[in-house]
Amino acid sequence: MKQKIGFMGLGIMGTPMAANILKAGYPITVYNRSPDKVAPLVQQGASQAANPKALAEAAEVVIAMVTGPEALSALLWGPHGAGGAFNSSKVFINMSSVAPCYTRELAAQLGPTGVTFVEAPVSGTKKPAEEGTLLILAGGPRDKVQELEPVFLAMGKKVIYCGEVGQGSMMKMFINLLLGLMMEGFTEVLNFGRLGGLTEEAMLDTVFSGPLNCGLFQMKAPNLQNNTYPTAFPLKHMSKDAKFIVDTAYDLGAPVPAGQTLLQLYRIGVARGWGDEDISAIARVFEHLSPKC
Ligand code: NAP
Repeated sequence: MKQKIGFMGLGIMGTPMAANILKAGYPITVYNRSPDKVAPLVQQGASQAANPKALAEAAEVVIAMVTGPEALSALLWGPHGAGGAFNSSKVFINMSSVAPCYTRELAAQLGPTGVTFVEAPVSGTKKPAEEGTLLILAGGPRDKVQELEPVFLAMGKKVIYCGEVGQGSMMKMFINLLLGLMMEGFTEVLNFGRLGGLTEEAMLDTVFSGPLNCGLFQMKAPNLQNNTYPTAFPLKHMSKDAKFIVDTAYDLGAPVPAGQTLLQLYRIGVARGWGDEDISAIARVFEHLSPKC
């Protein structure tokens, strides 16, 4: 018998993830702060909850895929919060990207409710979410993660068990530091070459013909060539994650000098009004900082 799922947060990622759970045959109830995003899933067969508490009452497994701590707090502990309906027969999975220390604090907050808490942030963006090929970075009780694997595999191609609660978020920060650095590095060198008189076509040909070629660069190159940045992973979310990364590194004593720079550059992007564009709009920051031709 498939568990009854409750899914909160129908943004860029949550909408296709909830749709894939539905396609896999799970009964699903959905909730989103802005109610207009609920209708497409209801048309596909999902039930709609009036508030997070009603969603948690209807579900055995409650999933959240929202911006971060503030949103989670509102949904769990705000008026009609899901936390009010948690008990020891239910599971709560946070799939949103947050810092490891926040995840551990959340585990402590959830403790008195008796709910089983699992974290499962994801690697992969809009397209893998639509195709059900996300990487699920799970933390929490290993037996519970194993038991939940069929639910995770409705949304992803692989579950990586990262350790106790907090370690899934640590893995998410690890992979997003690499993602942010690679995206920043790619756009920095393209801007450097452009100012040195190289054509974009020749630069991309050089990168793609050698060992530095990679899926990320291939995927983002059309945005850079067309100077349009249709949102897959919003730049503002990379800025948020860069802050979590720098704070986590500080707590650990880990040197992340390039990570610090990354935070500044992505914050400039947000301050200039490019936060809702794709992460690849970091190219605009380099253009903005460069001499005008
Ligand atoms: P998004 O499109 O911006 O959606 C954010 C969701 O959070 C929406 O459902 C939004 O509700 C909800 N939300 C925000 N603030 C809220 C609040 N105060 N109270 C209640 N709900 C609130 O974000 P996304 O791209 O789907 O990302 C979701 C999470 O996945 C983030 O943690 C992000 O870092 C992570 N992630 C994203 C990607 C990606 O490529 N996009 C990839 C991997 C991980 P409304 O609709 O009402 O605004």
